[in-house]
Amino acid sequence: MRSDPWDVIIVGAGPAGLMTAITCAVKPLRVLVLDGNSRAGAKLLLSGGGRCNVTNLKVSEKNYQGGEARTVRNVLSAFSSERAVRFFKSLGVAMVLEEGTKYFPETQSAKTVLEALLGEARACGVILEMKKKVSRISRPDGSFRVAGEGFEYTARAVVICTGGLSYAATGSDGSGYGLARTMGHTIVKTLPALTPLLTDDPDWKKLSGITLPVRLTVTAEEKKFAASEGAFLFTHTGFSGPAVLDISGPWLRCPAVPKELIANFLPDENEESLRAAWVRAAADHPKWSWKRFLARYFPERLTEVLFHKLGRDVGTPAGQCSKKDRDALFRSLAHFPLRVTGACGYEKAEVTSGGVDLREVNGKTLESKLQPGLYFAGEVLDVDGRIGGYNFQWAWASGFVAGKALLRELGTR
Ligand SMILES: Cc1cc2nc3c(=O)[nH]c(=O)nc-3n(C[C@H](O)[C@H](O)[C@H](O)COP(=O)(O)OP(=O)(O)OC[C@H]3O[C@@H](n4cnc5c(N)ncnc54)[C@H](O)[C@@H]3O)c2cc1C
Repeated sequence: MRSDPWDVIIVGAGPAGLMTAITCAVKPLRVLVLDGNSRAGAKLLLSGGGRCNVTNLKVSEKNYQGGEARTVRNVLSAFSSERAVRFFKSLGVAMVLEEGTKYFPETQSAKTVLEALLGEARACGVILEMKKKVSRISRPDGSFRVAGEGFEYTARAVVICTGGLSYAATGSDGSGYGLARTMGHTIVKTLPALTPLLTDDPDWKKLSGITLPVRLTVTAEEKKFAASEGAFLFTHTGFSGPAVLDISGPWLRCPAVPKELIANFLPDENEESLRAAWVRAAADHPKWSWKRFLARYFPERLTEVLFHKLGRDVGTPAGQCSKKDRDALFRSLAHFPLRVTGACGYEKAEVTSGGVDLREVNGKTLESKLQPGLYFAGEVLDVDGRIGGYNFQWAWASGFVAGKALLRELGTR
């Protein structure tokens, strides 16, 4: 390995750090990536159930929460998801679309994605050192000192790509926020996001394992605060599945008390379609119970719990109730309050919301406005995306933007 001083030191070998390195490691720049973990990209390997949802066909700043939307838009437009797909194809990783918009590697393996990034970083001459946890960044003179137990390096520029606080065993333990703070940066309050929600309601808990499509809404003071749609899973502690994970961040951030989580258990139906189905069933099967009639929408166990909660008898013939009563029932099933008592913490959260305040970074380069030569990329910034490949897209795009800016700034020595 060539020795100090380095042109660029990148702290963190996750998706954002590797993308930054690949982008800026153009000769003659010498780029060193330091990571505290024993293996690079440990979180990437867990992602998408081991399959890695690399990006999404439809990406805009509206899919993200956190700091200034203008900065998020700038960054996303510099490296679109289409470009991410082409980039991976150029590394030999073809993508397939699932559920209409989610891109996964054709191999269905996150390992393929990580190996492609590591291979490209090596090919670009990036030096990667594992088990090098950075605990200090300082700037005693013009250049940066980057240090940890048993090492100290010097660099002209530093990029902090240390991720958030979730799944700390992957290496992202929040220490990057401390590094940013010592360089004068403000950290917007962090919270777990994309995390399951908890309930103390035994009726819901006994439905553990049941999954169905829902639309969820967080309401407060009779106003809609946030909504999500997709698969919903009852668990032995509460609620999970993509629709729940997506709404967990807004739920935790919604400051209003009280606030409600409302489930529409019939998201693909409307009053008309339900009435038509009921009219048909009443004519063809006048003796069908509600349980039988609703079997086309819900598993039996769920119907029983829903009716129990509504104080109704699931065994009464559906076709014999009054129209008013029927309409009231359908409305209830589409507007069902779920008692939420909390959220799982960072150990179950896919991402962290909050982080380095975007107002303190240049929205076009992701360079610190407080410390020229210091950059940020990835989840360490106050940006978190919905479920569906948006968080990786942020890592690719922000790594690209920081890397390009470094090239412009340091490219000629
Ligand atoms: C279970 C799970 C599934 C997910 N699935 C998806 C998905 O399918 N699609 C999607 O878009 N997103 C997914 N995500 C989110 C996504 O993985 C993250 O948003 C993304 O990895 C963030 O990239 P990053 O490079 O910013 O940070 P990270 O991936 O967290 O990488 C940060 C790196 O920095 C290192 N580091 C931290 N502190 C230090 C330090 N002080 N010194 C040296 N090194 C340090 C860490 O060891 C780590 O290697 C998932 C997350 C989880 C937990």
